[in-house]
Amino acid sequence: MLELKDISKVFYPGTVNEKLALDSVSLNIAQGDVVCIVGSNGSGKSTLFNIVCGTYPVTGGTIHFNGEDVTHKPEYRRARTIGRIFQDPTKGTAAGMSVEDNLITALTKGMRGLKFSLNNERREFFREQLIPLGLDTRLKDNVGLLSGGQRQALTLLMTVLSQPKMLLLDEHTAALDPGNAQVVMNMTEHFISQFNLTALMITHNMQHAIDFGTRLVMMDEGTIILDVSGEEKKKLTVLKLVELFKSI
Ligand code: ADP
Ligand code: MG
Repeated sequence: MLELKDISKVFYPGTVNEKLALDSVSLNIAQGDVVCIVGSNGSGKSTLFNIVCGTYPVTGGTIHFNGEDVTHKPEYRRARTIGRIFQDPTKGTAAGMSVEDNLITALTKGMRGLKFSLNNERREFFREQLIPLGLDTRLKDNVGLLSGGQRQALTLLMTVLSQPKMLLLDEHTAALDPGNAQVVMNMTEHFISQFNLTALMITHNMQHAIDFGTRLVMMDEGTIILDVSGEEKKKLTVLKLVELFKSI
C-alpha cells in the first residue's frame, strides 16, 4: 500500500546546521498493517510522517501509494487518502464551531461544509459514536468547551468519518491523562478494526507499542533499526524494548 524506498531528508543542506533527519529509509506497509513506531526524540519519526503526507519534500528516494508514485504530489492531494492526528488536541478540531458542525465538515471533507444538513439517520449515527465520549448530549456545544480528551476523541472520530485509507497517529494520546489516553486508545483500536484501516502510530508508551498493532518499528538517528511482526513481535516485552533503547 505504502512503499518508501531509500528516503532521505536533509534539513538546512549546505549550512552549519545541516541535519540528516532520514538516512535512506525503506519501509513497505501492506494493507491492514497496524504499525507502532518507537524511537528516541529526534530519531526521525515525525519527519517520516511529514514525508509520507507531503508536508516536506524528500531530499532523495521515492514514495508509492497504492502503486502510484506520489513522491512529488502536493500535500493537499494526499490528504484525501491519509488521515493524520497530532499530539495537540486543539489541532484537529475547529474551536469556533459546534461539535455537530465539526463532524459535518469531516463527513463532507470540508467541501460542502456547513451547507450540508444532517438528516435524522445521520444524526443518530453520530450520536451512537459520541456516547462513549460523553459527547452525545453536546452536539450543539462549541468545541472550545470540551476537555482535551474529548477533543482528541472527536478528532479521531472526524478523521475516521473523512474515510482515509491510512491513519497516521503522532503521539496522539501523549498529552492526555491516563484515563482519557485509554479511552482514545480503545477508540483507535475499535475504529481501525471496524473500518479495516491501515495505521502507523508513533508512541513513547512501550506498553502500547507491545499490545497494539501487528508490527513494531524502532527508529534511531534517521534509520530503522528494528522491524518485527507476528511471533517475533509477540515475544517482545516492555523490558526487552527498554533494553534495546538503552543499547542504542
Ligand atoms: P522525532 O519525531 O523522532 O522526535 P523529528 O522527526 O521531529 O524526530 O526530528 C528528526 C530530526 O530532524 C531532529 O534533529 C529535528 O531537529 C530535525 N527536524 C525535524 N523537523 C525539522 C524542521 N522542520 N526543520 C529543521 N529540522 C527539523
Ligand atoms: Mg515527533
